[in-house]
Amino acid sequence: LHTNRDKTLTGNPISPGVGYGRGCFCREDTVEKLSFSAISTKEHSKLIQDAFHRLSDHLSGLIDFAERSKDQHSAALFRAHMMIGEELMPQVLSTFKTQSISAQEAIEKNFEIYTNYFSELADDYFKGRACDFFELKKLLLDFLNNTESYFDCKEYSGCKIGGCVLKNEHILITDELTASVAIRISPYTRGIITDICNPNSHAAFIARSLDVPVISGIHEPLSVFSRTDDIFMDGAKGTVIINPKEKVLDEYRSKINKPSKSYEVIAPVQECQVLADIDLAKEISKAVQVKADGLGLYRTEIEMLNKGCIMSFEEQLAAYQSVAETMQGKPVYIRLMDLGSDKSAPWMQTTNEHNPALGCRGARYLLTHPEMLKTQARAIALASGITPIKVIYPMITNLAEFIELKKLFMEATKDIDGSQLKHGVMFEVPSACIEADEIYKQCDFGRIGSNDLVQYLFAYDRTSEEFNYQNLAKEPALWTVINALSVAAKRAHKPLELCGMLAELTEFIPELIRLGITTISTHPSNIAAVRKRVIATMMNPDKSHLKSSNNSDKQPLVH
Ligand code: PEP
Ligand code: MG
Repeated sequence: LHTNRDKTLTGNPISPGVGYGRGCFCREDTVEKLSFSAISTKEHSKLIQDAFHRLSDHLSGLIDFAERSKDQHSAALFRAHMMIGEELMPQVLSTFKTQSISAQEAIEKNFEIYTNYFSELADDYFKGRACDFFELKKLLLDFLNNTESYFDCKEYSGCKIGGCVLKNEHILITDELTASVAIRISPYTRGIITDICNPNSHAAFIARSLDVPVISGIHEPLSVFSRTDDIFMDGAKGTVIINPKEKVLDEYRSKINKPSKSYEVIAPVQECQVLADIDLAKEISKAVQVKADGLGLYRTEIEMLNKGCIMSFEEQLAAYQSVAETMQGKPVYIRLMDLGSDKSAPWMQTTNEHNPALGCRGARYLLTHPEMLKTQARAIALASGITPIKVIYPMITNLAEFIELKKLFMEATKDIDGSQLKHGVMFEVPSACIEADEIYKQCDFGRIGSNDLVQYLFAYDRTSEEFNYQNLAKEPALWTVINALSVAAKRAHKPLELCGMLAELTEFIPELIRLGITTISTHPSNIAAVRKRVIATMMNPDKSHLKSSNNSDKQPLVH
């Protein structure tokens, strides 16, 4: 008998869709807290050895599981991890004894030697192995500190992210939905209930693009639901019902655990190219389904975050060639990896930044990791043999950054025919917008990144609960900047295009078109809505929904 029968909770709607299932609980547990200062060196050494033994047991379990699932690739990987653990235990113990540092520091120090070593190697395969060491270090430290992350449900405990051993349709319950959890959810996850997840975070974008309903703002969700509860959620309304009555289920029957997005198809319109955004190469089929005018933004960093480590040259080439082949003859835009801030992973090797949104991200990250940029540049340049590709440079803050990055791109690809490549700049940081005239002299096209432009223009964290995109989009300051960019583009006789949330607020489409922005990239599910608005604008051109007075005489930002 359920203690919570038909109990309704209300949270924040983050991603639409109707989900129903038992809970899968993401837990992080400190089994028994140890006071490291209170124990002797000998006991410390014993703890290190125990941590390595637990690592070995854990890996044996994974090898067994992979072999039973006939996943030889994973089995081989876990065996390699086991060997690394065996090799490193004596080294860690010796560092601990000889350097009078803590057990934790001894583990970190030894593993970092290898991560640094592998990540600096020229060979992409070995470079990718740096993330193996990251994962092993994290596991070992969890074992040392008695902390474990695991997933449990009524029938099973111990799944990893992305795997449901029982293949049950379930609702994932987690305190915070991060991008790294969102990109690796199981194919059987039918919804996510969490306390923390901002609608503008990358985790939310990923969930929406995977079409998984999400509700945030459910306080302490791990203790709200029990493992025997049947959980119903309506992601569009933000409503959760624990153990709902049959009546509720009957009412929603046709929508439960079904895709929420309707991919309406409206034929292309002449007045505006409406292109598709994708996060993963396999999503290109959605772009085709809705008759997108092309691929407008391929967020290559999400493909890598999804994979869990930096992709090798061969993997990147295969991904870029596949989108190029599918879209052949239509525009294809690939963005250089825009890593950092809320799109981070352990393998990126960034230092702990106090304020990562203002830290080493996007263009800055690429400039400090030229090898990564060069590998990506070669893969994109080779794929451009199939169809012309426009390369988007993310988070450019000034002209010098773009010139330096483009130089690295050109040097890395000098032996490849680059005649089918164009190079464009994301205008998403105000300083780059102010320098637009100079930047336009050097780039082939400009692209407004309306998510980050709003974040940085108004100094409003796009991941914060209070961030209200709809309201900020109406601010005259935003339109002064967009207006100035449009003037700069016209002066340079080069295109100004747009992607990001602004394209989802279709009431602004008439104003964008009036400003000459006639290439818009948006999620495939929004393409029909943009086209409908374009058609309506053409039939009734005077109706601009922008009330502000600053959109009459367009002045550049800097004279
Ligand atoms: C943007 O900033 O508007 C954009 C499209 O890029 P992202 O959302 O990936 O930062
Ligand atoms: Mg951006």
